[in-house]
Amino acid sequence: MTVRRSDLISPVVKGIPPSGIRRFFDIVSEMDDVISLGVGEPDFVTPWHIRESCIYSLEKGYTMYTSNYGLMELRVEIAKYLHDRFGLTYEPKNQILVTVGVSEAYDLALRAIISPGDEVIVPEPCYVSYKPCVSFAGGVPVVVETRAEDGFKLTAEQVEAVITPKTKAIVLCFPNNPTGSTMSKEELSGIARIAQEHDLIVISDEIYGELTYEGVHDSFAALPGMQGRTILLNGFSKAYAMTGWRLGYAVACKEIIDAMVKIHQYTMLCAPIMVQNGAIEALRNGDREMHRMVSQYNRRRKLITKGFNDMGLDCVEPQGAFYAFPSIKKTGLSSEEFAERLLVEEKVAVVPGNAFGNCGEGYIRSSYAASIDDINEALVRMARFVQRYIS
Ligand code: PLP
Repeated sequence: MTVRRSDLISPVVKGIPPSGIRRFFDIVSEMDDVISLGVGEPDFVTPWHIRESCIYSLEKGYTMYTSNYGLMELRVEIAKYLHDRFGLTYEPKNQILVTVGVSEAYDLALRAIISPGDEVIVPEPCYVSYKPCVSFAGGVPVVVETRAEDGFKLTAEQVEAVITPKTKAIVLCFPNNPTGSTMSKEELSGIARIAQEHDLIVISDEIYGELTYEGVHDSFAALPGMQGRTILLNGFSKAYAMTGWRLGYAVACKEIIDAMVKIHQYTMLCAPIMVQNGAIEALRNGDREMHRMVSQYNRRRKLITKGFNDMGLDCVEPQGAFYAFPSIKKTGLSSEEFAERLLVEEKVAVVPGNAFGNCGEGYIRSSYAASIDDINEALVRMARFVQRYIS
């Protein structure tokens, strides 16, 4: 019997386009001498003391599974971190789940709470996985478009306008990928009020929480009344330059963590033990190196924002993460045309803004997790490129 090829794949999966970022990197990987401001990861290697603790863990023979929740020692460190930073109290025994990156934590959070047809509010521009994962979990993503004139912050009015009886959750990501915007406690309070009024769950991806440059990061879970309805996600990829280690975590009320663990135990089992040991070291002794990296990003942030504005690309100053999101509208090019021509003509890779949602059209995402020399050279090339298009 022959299988009809078109029937092999689920319609949900078929309906989702491949990531715009990946397509771009495939082109970049085949070219020489490209300065890449495209990737969303630190250009630093994981600090040595963290790598060393992972090596030590292997030497000691820690090569087995851990509890599905993750090593208790790590959960205790996570609880301590959340308490020290935000005054939040979570029970390491059953309110903390160690995952394979924030990526897994986000997927589990959705699958744990969504019933078929539930709506999840996703503010755009946003991280490329947010909408597809809602669809994979059987939900319906409902987009809210943030705007440059609001500093790419989400307003309570925008959220309220799309709420229906089917709304189940809101996804928040501040500091934001791709815009670099942040939201203070006061700015988030309107969204908290709506979550309360409509009994919504808030999935707050705070993976860039340590990367803020003007003021400190406020955790959504620490807003009055919000801890019980927030699934707080965080991880080690960005703050400790540990993207390849694949480690993150989710914290929430016991009922939600129970449900997430149920999926995790049948799919992933646990995160690798030696990686978890590295993360314990990161939380215990990683602050100094992390602050050193953050101060480097801060220098680069100022350099790149000035560079874009000087060449005529309006750029809101990013307050967090390591991305700038300048407008390229004055060039008359679409985001994809801009990124593709820049790559071919000047060998600089950036990501077209529409990869992060339709309202990202007219923008590009440029990472500044690159050396000062690379950023300076990229700015020279980009200024030359932009001059050819701005009349
Ligand atoms: N969330 C956001 C907003 C991101 O930008 C990324 C990676 O770029 C992730 C999650 C994925 O994180 P992890 O490496 O922990 O899976």
